[in-house]
Amino acid sequence: MANIHQSIAELVGRTPLLQLNGYNRAKQLSANIIGKFELFNPNQSVKDRIALAMVEEAERTGKLQKGDTIIELTSGNTGVGLAAIAAAKGYKFRVYIQDQVSKERFQVIHALGGETVKLSEVPEVVEVFEKYGPDFIKCVEAIERHVSGEKNVWFADQTRNPQNPNIHYRTTGPEIWQDTDGRVDAFVACVGTGGTLSGVGNYLKKHNPDVKIYGVQPTEDSFQSPERPEQEEITGVHPFENTKEEYIPANLDRTVYDGYFEVHTNQAYEAARLLAKKDGILVGASSGAALYAATQLASRDEFRRKNIVVLLPDTGLRYLSTHLFEE
Ligand code: PMP
Repeated sequence: MANIHQSIAELVGRTPLLQLNGYNRAKQLSANIIGKFELFNPNQSVKDRIALAMVEEAERTGKLQKGDTIIELTSGNTGVGLAAIAAAKGYKFRVYIQDQVSKERFQVIHALGGETVKLSEVPEVVEVFEKYGPDFIKCVEAIERHVSGEKNVWFADQTRNPQNPNIHYRTTGPEIWQDTDGRVDAFVACVGTGGTLSGVGNYLKKHNPDVKIYGVQPTEDSFQSPERPEQEEITGVHPFENTKEEYIPANLDRTVYDGYFEVHTNQAYEAARLLAKKDGILVGASSGAALYAATQLASRDEFRRKNIVVLLPDTGLRYLSTHLFEE
């Protein structure tokens, strides 16, 4: 029987697990790190999953209608995913995006027919930044105020939309469980909105309460500041521990994880570079961060000969204009 898909929507998810044999050997790890490669989604990131889930739910409930403009605030990948789904389904798309993300993200969104607006061009956001600094959650509220008078727009809002963790509970988690035959001892993922960690974590814990779940956040000195104007950040990832309560995204279930790791941009880059050299695949900065954290976990005695699944959110090709692969 022919096996021809009719829409990119049918190509989202069912990404492969790959045991990182080259990396594991190079690091002489006694635990087994297995990567979940989200770059196999049609637009090369984990965010294709939530883009499709949020749009289809909004269609079902009538919040999104023909001719509408989809709006989102994102550091890039959700914008790419939504731009693609909008293109395939015939909606307009506008994304509010951090100024400092790699230029590939702007290029890809434009190629998919989406409009980009830098956060520095939105007066409500500039006001928030001046008052509170780069606060992601306050920024969401500022965008909400900015578009509140507009008609025929639908704000997807990945930080609060329950379809974000739900789709990981319904797809990413079950895929990991099935593809390991239930032999997964730990799961490691970076936190941006918290959707991935919460959805996958809850699914795995439901099937085996002994599975250990770990979140990853950037170290404080991974952020740009007047002292570090050139600092490259780990795109898409935000602090969720040792931070102000109001900075924590609604989609992060704080009861689901057993611990967390802090990773510096340079450590994230180091891990991604070694994976490229040893296993032959390019992943992005947050993948490097999650892999670096998984490597720390793998050196603990309790994980000897255990399977650690690490979520690798996107492709390294989206970072060629950064220093990720420049040693
Ligand atoms: N890595 C990248 C590259 C991302 O774009 C995101 C999403 N902001 C994450 C990690 C974190 O995923 P989540 O939002 O599900 O916590």
